[in-house]
Amino acid sequence: MDYELRVIIEKVSIANQATIHRENIGAFGIKKPKSILDLGLRHTEQISLLTQLQNFLLAEQSILIDPGFTECPKCGEKISKNGFLKSIFHAVFSDHKLRLQKHRCKNPDCNWQSTPTTHTFFGTDTHPDLVKLQCEQGVLNSYRMAETYLAKLNCQRRSVNNHVQIRMITNQIGERLSDWNKIPPSPSEIGVTHQLIVRVEGESILLKGKQRAEVMLGRISKGDDLATESDHKNDASYVMSAINDQQLTMKTYLLNAAFRQGLDIGTHVFAITDGTRNSWEVVSALQSHCQKLELILDWFHICKKFVRVRQGLNLVLTNGLKRAQSILWQGYANDALYVLASIQSEIIDETKLLQIRELREYLQMNLNYLANYAVKDQTNMPYMSDVADFHLEDCLRERHRKQKKMQWTQEGVHNILQIRAMMASHEWTDRFLELIDLAPAIELL
Ligand SMILES: [Zn+2]
Repeated sequence: MDYELRVIIEKVSIANQATIHRENIGAFGIKKPKSILDLGLRHTEQISLLTQLQNFLLAEQSILIDPGFTECPKCGEKISKNGFLKSIFHAVFSDHKLRLQKHRCKNPDCNWQSTPTTHTFFGTDTHPDLVKLQCEQGVLNSYRMAETYLAKLNCQRRSVNNHVQIRMITNQIGERLSDWNKIPPSPSEIGVTHQLIVRVEGESILLKGKQRAEVMLGRISKGDDLATESDHKNDASYVMSAINDQQLTMKTYLLNAAFRQGLDIGTHVFAITDGTRNSWEVVSALQSHCQKLELILDWFHICKKFVRVRQGLNLVLTNGLKRAQSILWQGYANDALYVLASIQSEIIDETKLLQIRELREYLQMNLNYLANYAVKDQTNMPYMSDVADFHLEDCLRERHRKQKKMQWTQEGVHNILQIRAMMASHEWTDRFLELIDLAPAIELL
């Protein structure tokens, strides 16, 4: 005996369970699957079923979208119904048309007519779930790649997922976040923590018109239980900025985020940076708000620079370099610099010479911030960022470096970074709806 599964939509009265309307929206044959391909529904079938289901639900909801006009808002005369207006609505996987009731004024001299659209009622025609998806794709990929990906996900190209649209939405949400980050925390958001670990790094990127922007990243986490800092990983806040304003925006973001993490006049702040002037400048914003600001050059960045110099060196020089790094680890910065100088005198290759000179200058410039890393390590004190943390390098490689020809504006980069920082802080999913104005533009009756 052969069977099929039917998908039936029923509109039922809740009061008496009477069926008002019943419709078959699809049937699926029940056959023995010949391969895994036959298991369940195909991608396009799933999207199509969902679209039909949505069409039914939206048709019912459209009837309820009523502005409640009882008289002409212009002249006060009686009004009459005036047919329907079809207005577009973009759901997460499909596009629909809402059938909205129109009204007109009976007074021939007035001639007022209502023009109901999804926009006039809700302020937008796009469901927030789609906006969220567009932002997520827009910040991780190029806008064109995001468009292609969303077309694949939807089994069709949709005008709402056009790259221009994705860019506009991503910028809009990023701008809102940018303003948000400037707002000082309310008293209820502020706690007190004894130790705070603040890590800052910066990188220069190329913008449209050959201009450059200094992109800054800050990571703020509680350090009260330093030995188990890894447990706090998901609680770290990230802030980012690409605005060239002598780090004013970045300082504001960092300070606000630090207050939210519990920065207080009694807090000991461990400020770990990549050693650039901008990074030290940014962390200086915390100075007058804490008990102690301990400045430490990030061991992670020191190691990265050593590794770069080491590549391609002969064994003797490599061993010398390792010795210098080990001396530095133990807190003898000047001795390490001396060893580096002697290695430098033996290098002939010009590229290597330049690299080791840069390394020496880097350490020299940050001499006051070199710690006894061995002791810090033994006593479970913070001195380096974790490779597993979110770093500027990952973020910029993901989004900016892979499209070298991309023409970035400073605002465009800054907006994208706001969303990236919120994602890295693990707040994006929970707080996304707060970024969207959900209040209807017109109160429905
Ligand atoms: Zn009127």
